[in-house]
Amino acid sequence: MSTPILEFATDANNPCMHCGVCCTHFRISFYWAEADDAPSGWVPASLTEPLNPWLRCMKGTNGKTRRCIALTGTVGQAVRCAIYSQRPSPCREFPVYLEDGRPNPKCNELRAQVGLPPLPELPIAPANDPDGTPTEPPTEPPAAA
Ligand code: SF4
Ligand code: SF4
Repeated sequence: MSTPILEFATDANNPCMHCGVCCTHFRISFYWAEADDAPSGWVPASLTEPLNPWLRCMKGTNGKTRRCIALTGTVGQAVRCAIYSQRPSPCREFPVYLEDGRPNPKCNELRAQVGLPPLPELPIAPANDPDGTPTEPPTEPPAAA
């Protein structure tokens, strides 16, 4: 699961906790030194595999059928990243919401693959909030499909 631009008040409010599709879709590759067998790495190296001298990827994400080894739970229902605080950079950089409050279009594309509804636009989107005043994210997770 990626890092949302906004912090959600509870896990139940975080749409990623009910999705996880991106963790079963992409090859999660990153610079080798992000792994914790490098001096300042943080990703558990035992959960990674080498791609080339410069890159590693999360185990489980380098085949035709992908599911990151760190993902627990049932995709499209309830999931969790077992190494959330140690996840690699691609997982931190893939946003569920863009800075203007619009959902990441790729998220909605991925969510549709497992029958999840598209994410709603957040009220901070300029069209809804011309003054740019930050408001709270939704208090309810998206309804089930
Ligand atoms: S490390 Fe965590 S956030 Fe990244 S793909 Fe794996 S389960 Fe998902
Ligand atoms: S596809 Fe989007 S909504 Fe689903 S877990 Fe990944 S970042 Fe979250």
